[in-house]
Amino acid sequence: MSWFERLKRGLSKTRGTITEAAEPLDDAPATDAGGDGSGAAPPGTATAEPSAAKPAKQAGDSAPGRVSSGNRAKAGRRAATWEMDCDDLEFALIAADVGAKLAGEVVAAAKKERERGTSFAESLEQALLDQLEPDRMRQKLRRVGFQLDVTRKVVEPAGKVVMVVGVNGVGKTTTIAKLGAYYSRNGRRVIFAAGDTFRAAGSAQLAVWGERLGIPTVTGPENSDPAAVAFDGAQRRKAGGHDLLFVDTAGRLHTKHNLMEELKKVRRVIDRADPGEPRDVWLVLDAVTGQNGLEQARRFNEAVALTGVIVTKLDGTAKGGILLPITRELGLPIKFIGVGEQEEDLQPYDAAAFVQALLDLPARAA
Ligand code: GDP
Repeated sequence: MSWFERLKRGLSKTRGTITEAAEPLDDAPATDAGGDGSGAAPPGTATAEPSAAKPAKQAGDSAPGRVSSGNRAKAGRRAATWEMDCDDLEFALIAADVGAKLAGEVVAAAKKERERGTSFAESLEQALLDQLEPDRMRQKLRRVGFQLDVTRKVVEPAGKVVMVVGVNGVGKTTTIAKLGAYYSRNGRRVIFAAGDTFRAAGSAQLAVWGERLGIPTVTGPENSDPAAVAFDGAQRRKAGGHDLLFVDTAGRLHTKHNLMEELKKVRRVIDRADPGEPRDVWLVLDAVTGQNGLEQARRFNEAVALTGVIVTKLDGTAKGGILLPITRELGLPIKFIGVGEQEEDLQPYDAAAFVQALLDLPARAA
């Protein structure tokens, strides 16, 4: 199964919620979905206020059931063939962890686009993409039809040291291993610093990965100072001429003041060993934690100034909507997504592929 299929499967619950209330329309192409180019709202569309009744089904609609799971053969045309009530859409987005404010914004933007005559699903796809693509230039390029396949380009860290933070259990250590594999595959010489010295076997876990991947790993005794391990790692990277150092850190709960102080210290100490580094601090976030993940991101951002986020477990029962507030409210770029436990299950984040998986549109980037 491709990573895109795994992502689609992971998001199936949210996709189901979003499209549950969808009304199948004619099989007419997008431009014929009701718009006449005059800017007037097409009949039977979701242009009513959220409190208004559901739009009536289009005449000639003989397709049975919803568009969400069946009708696979029509997937290529699906973007043009369904319609949904604004209220239902807003609730579905909130249920998917998008957050009330952004859900309202997505619905308003989709509605506006719909009033121009664009098909409903395309309007929704565009509204979601606008939220999930922080780079305005890329957004513009997408709007004029460029297909930007992010997955084929190597995600370049800003410097030589990437500090990786996140609460216990989100998949931090596994993600560092996957990052090591990814950058090694792309020709970089990688080294790890196993700074999660507080968790029993935390360091050992990364060292085992390192051995398997042929990546040297700097470790320290259990309960030793994580900053000392990070310092050693930074010096070893410089001395050995490695391209990239990933520093694992402890992940006790983000509400614990001490953890944040400790992370700040790790950051300072790396800078002492290798001035200017770490240029990147990436937060690993478990997609299943939903809105709580947003709170985690806020706290870590305040303490150590995050430069990116990696969202794991999108192959599970994740709702997926958390990516919107991460991108929009915190202004943090999502660097990678995790779609499984294996080494190759880390993919560069592509907003378009994510939205396609969410709306079950045909994959362009799979
Ligand atoms: P840490 O405490 O944050 O370092 O978490 P670990 O790296 O030990 O991972 C916790 C669990 O999550 C392990 O069983 C991993 O295999 C699993 N895991 C990590 N990333 C993913 C992912 O993208 N998908 C799935 N399904 N499991 C993941």
